[in-house]
Amino acid sequence: MILLKHFRHYYLKYGLAFLIGIAILVAVDWYQLEIPRIIKVIINGVEGGTITVMDQLWTPLLTILGIVAGMTIGRFLWRITLIGNSRRIETDIRSEMFKHATKLDQNFYSNEKIGGLMSYFINDLNAVKELYGFGLLMLIDGLVLGGFVLVRMFSLNWEMTLYAAIPLAFMGVLVFFLELKMEKKFKLRQDSFEKMSDFAQESFSGITVIKAYVREAVESLRFKKKSKDVFDKSMDHLKYSVVVNVIIDAMISLVILAILAFGAILIAKGNLSSGELTEYISYFFTLLWPVFAISWFMNINGQAQASAKRIYEFLESKPSVVDAPTAIKDVTLDGSISVKHLTFTYPDSETPTLKDMNFDIKAGEMVGILGRTGSGKSTLVELFLHLYNTEKGMITFGGYDLMDLSLATLREHIGYVPQDNFLYSDTIKNNIGFAFSRIDEDRLIQVAKISDIHENVMEFKDRYETMLGERGVTISGGQKQRVSIARALAKEPKILILDDSVSAVDTKTEEAIISNLRKVRKGKTTLMIAHRISTVRKLDKIVVIDQGRVAGVGSHAELMKTLPLYQEMVKLQELEELVGEVEAHA
Ligand code: ATP
Ligand code: MG
Repeated sequence: MILLKHFRHYYLKYGLAFLIGIAILVAVDWYQLEIPRIIKVIINGVEGGTITVMDQLWTPLLTILGIVAGMTIGRFLWRITLIGNSRRIETDIRSEMFKHATKLDQNFYSNEKIGGLMSYFINDLNAVKELYGFGLLMLIDGLVLGGFVLVRMFSLNWEMTLYAAIPLAFMGVLVFFLELKMEKKFKLRQDSFEKMSDFAQESFSGITVIKAYVREAVESLRFKKKSKDVFDKSMDHLKYSVVVNVIIDAMISLVILAILAFGAILIAKGNLSSGELTEYISYFFTLLWPVFAISWFMNINGQAQASAKRIYEFLESKPSVVDAPTAIKDVTLDGSISVKHLTFTYPDSETPTLKDMNFDIKAGEMVGILGRTGSGKSTLVELFLHLYNTEKGMITFGGYDLMDLSLATLREHIGYVPQDNFLYSDTIKNNIGFAFSRIDEDRLIQVAKISDIHENVMEFKDRYETMLGERGVTISGGQKQRVSIARALAKEPKILILDDSVSAVDTKTEEAIISNLRKVRKGKTTLMIAHRISTVRKLDKIVVIDQGRVAGVGSHAELMKTLPLYQEMVKLQELEELVGEVEAHA
């Protein structure tokens, strides 16, 4: 139950600290039960006339004081040890989860919302940590102290203890069933919370859209509904917890009443001394903590089990894109790419996105990949990066089958500028040097110059130390694209893939970047995805993609002669440029 399968090994890792904590706990629990005994001796002594002067009380009182002091220190020690362990375990699990998350494939991230993933890291991990900290502490303390107390109560008066134990046992069973129900309610609450955090996250990311469409009030209302749902589910869960605790309280009051009545009869009959009844009642009060502790533990355990299950499922989710045991490592690819009968269907899609593609790219070529929006250009390069699996023989790099190459070896050869240009909230320098722990200053400036961003950066107050994103300046779409290009260039990759990476810059800047690339990328392969003819017309070769198929391959001049689709695209774009110019002059 508490030994959660996935996390069991942590008990071994922190085993010594656990054992020390538990040993101190047992000692504290044992000595604390000496106090009622000493009190009994005092009461019986005073009543029986053996204790007559104050001096006789010093020894028992000082013993009690000593025990209390020892208990305080002991409690501090075992709590800090056991709760400290829970924090260590939490940190370890969190690192394991993050490491696992980075290994999961693209498909996982398309299906899973970021908010949901974050709730594994925050809510679920917290529930598991509580189980390892307070939960475990309460369970052990409850069992040890409860066990000791029951033994003493039985030896003092077994009959009275049986009467007290029957309702207590009944209470245990009741709590167990309520706890089962509580677990379900907690899960409902957690799911609802996840939906709400997803919604909030998406709203913040899309705040500009919300404002532009004047949807603030409507979105707030939608959020309120989600928040109300979380509230309802929380209340439902809370009601159950409260019911459990109130029932326990009521039962305890009834049992105390019964003990008092039963004890009074025994005293009247002369079978029990008043000192013994006091001792017995103090034991019973001591027994309350174990009963509460165990019921709390069940509560925490219910939540933690639901959370732990989600964490396991997450940790056990296997990435589908992994290295084969025989994956080829440490080879140098020459930069050539061959695509043969490449057909690809997204895992959650029914129709293929890429259909029977065939073309070759020679090492060192500058190749344009041109196609209308949605034609499959980004999909194609994502396959080059092995973000999704393809069949063997469909894609080869320098003679090596993509499916045989180790992921790291393949990706080390590729510099990729994704279409969405993701940059970190970090300095420009660290963004460009992302592939390295430290980037050389000369190299930094060199790649920034090739990407035509150097002059822009020099205009910023902090230059390359300028912070980007949430914690710093917001740069334009075109500047973002160029910082991303510099980041990919810094790797000096054998194959550079630019996915629509100059779409947000003007044609003059575009020309400058292309001519810079031509100079520095001699002998290395460069793929440029584009919509605009101007981006690709001067490249060595253009692969035209239409609805997931290769419509034609050749230079600009060749395609102008042979491919009607290309001629059409050229005509259309010339017309667009003309309209643009006329509008500009009007
Ligand atoms: P653009 O020029 O607009 O960037 P593109 O040529 O890069 O377009 P892709 O992004 O490759 O087009 O998309 C090709 C098709 O695959 C589209 O119809 C798109 O809806 C679909 N698609 C893209 N990503 C996924 C995904 N993760 N799951 C299912 N289908 C997808
Ligand atoms: Mg695309």
